[in-house]
Amino acid sequence: MSRKDPISFLMKKRHPFLFIFCYLKFGAFVLFLFSTAAAAGSEASLNENRSLESGTQQYLKQIEFHIERKHKINKPQFSDSIRNSLINFSMLGPMASISSWTLEKLGDSKTARTWLFFVMPLVRWMSEPFLYPVETRGTPEKTQQEFQKLFNFIAGLQKKGFSVSLDNVGDTSLSLEDAIAYKKYYLSLITQFARAEETNELCMSLKLSALTTDLDAAVGNDREALAKQEEIKTAIIEMLQAASKVQDRRVFIRIDMEEYLYKELTLKLFREIVEQNRILAVDDNGRLRLGVVIQAYLTDAAQDVRNLGLWAASQGFRVPIRVVKGAYLKHEREIAEEKGIKCPVWNHKPSTDANYEAICGFMLQNLDVIEPAFATHNIRSQAHVMALADLYHIDKSAFEFQMLYGMGDTIKGVIVAMGYPMREYIPSGSLPRGLKYAGRRFCELASSDNALARTMRGDFSVIDDTPGFQGAEDRKDGRKVMALMSENISGAVSNPIQQ
Ligand SMILES: Cc1cc2nc3c(=O)[nH]c(=O)nc-3n(C[C@H](O)[C@H](O)[C@H](O)COP(=O)(O)OP(=O)(O)OC[C@H]3O[C@@H](n4cnc5c(N)ncnc54)[C@H](O)[C@@H]3O)c2cc1C
Repeated sequence: MSRKDPISFLMKKRHPFLFIFCYLKFGAFVLFLFSTAAAAGSEASLNENRSLESGTQQYLKQIEFHIERKHKINKPQFSDSIRNSLINFSMLGPMASISSWTLEKLGDSKTARTWLFFVMPLVRWMSEPFLYPVETRGTPEKTQQEFQKLFNFIAGLQKKGFSVSLDNVGDTSLSLEDAIAYKKYYLSLITQFARAEETNELCMSLKLSALTTDLDAAVGNDREALAKQEEIKTAIIEMLQAASKVQDRRVFIRIDMEEYLYKELTLKLFREIVEQNRILAVDDNGRLRLGVVIQAYLTDAAQDVRNLGLWAASQGFRVPIRVVKGAYLKHEREIAEEKGIKCPVWNHKPSTDANYEAICGFMLQNLDVIEPAFATHNIRSQAHVMALADLYHIDKSAFEFQMLYGMGDTIKGVIVAMGYPMREYIPSGSLPRGLKYAGRRFCELASSDNALARTMRGDFSVIDDTPGFQGAEDRKDGRKVMALMSENISGAVSNPIQQ
């Protein structure tokens, strides 16, 4: 070995330069491997996104085609046309605020209903497609008959391929009497279901603001708030106790999500009820009897879904999550402006849609910890879920779509015909308590901007708006969402899931 060969010289001397040289060489090699893998990875993810979008577009075209065909074949009945015209007229320009005000007054005040008794049959007829009236103020026998009618109605829908989630219609309970009646409705449903044979499952949705008066008082950690939280938990546990007595058939309770102020409280109470009452909360098949809702219009929704998934993994069961976009947009914006704080909702509608799609993807990739339900009337969002399921080779029966009763019935029919499970969310109960709800549905269906209303008129133009995080702020938050939602947390499951 010649002394002039620098490498040999350095090796001989074990010179530190040699180690630095080798280290740098090795580093460069590792960097090369990483960058090649990253390039291949980003190429793969680009390809995946392209094929996902093309799958979504194919499903969208398929849904649009079938909707148009159904519209051509099934001409609306004369009575439905009159009802739709009346709804459109009641929400035309200045009429909209008068109609909403009248419905609100009729809902809240018995005196208004007594004085305006002559308009009640018309209001009842107009609201009929959106809520199922159940009169519970008569004798116990009469109430029993009313519930029986409801179960027969559900059985009829099941025969057509739909499943059902029953909600006791009504907004915030303003009196203790209202809150008690609200809880009693669910308990009676469960008791009656135990005796009925028409349906094989009872799924219910409830709102915490109706289950108790003054839900605001439950927010926080002070003594008063904790006492209120206990009161809410006790009411739900009572329902779980009743549910646990029903043998062999599924009773399921979903806690709807309301305003952002109650989000943490709702998720906390849900987890506490399940953890502290495991035997009641899990049914004989190892499935949770209680579920929650995530609102994709919130910028922190992705984090919440991920946390719920990890929590479910640590508990050894699947968490039932319904993902919606969120119904309180105007309220959240007003509150944020009033308080001078950042609004928890995305700044742009396409950002909400992009977040919704990212969350759907995450839920479908983590089926061993999440039991997903996709609630939307937007056919683009539905088509995206279908394409995601294809991409991940997921069977149609592993998830369900959900839509509101009386809204977009043609879409529901198309989705069921395509072989996907569809659950109708049916607001039921006292008509006066449902009038505000009906007013909101009238408003949506009469609006020229509403995507569902346009779809039902055969105008698919709005649907072409591709979801994507828009604006600097949404894009920045969107990048965090994409990082969180591309992760598969299934490996975090510590206990086997009982099916
Ligand atoms: C079965 C069922 C159950 C539901 N349960 C709940 C519930 O528990 N809690 C709840 O809050 N809602 C619930 N909803 C309502 C839901 O949140 C939506 O309001 C409704 O479904 C409309 O959304 P979409 O996807 O159908 O229609 P789309 O027309 O695609 O979306 C409309 C939604 O986009 C969002 N949006 C609109 N404009 C903007 C904007 N400028 N910036 C950001 N976002 C915007 C809003 O969330 C709006 O509701 C439920 C809906 C269904 C079908």
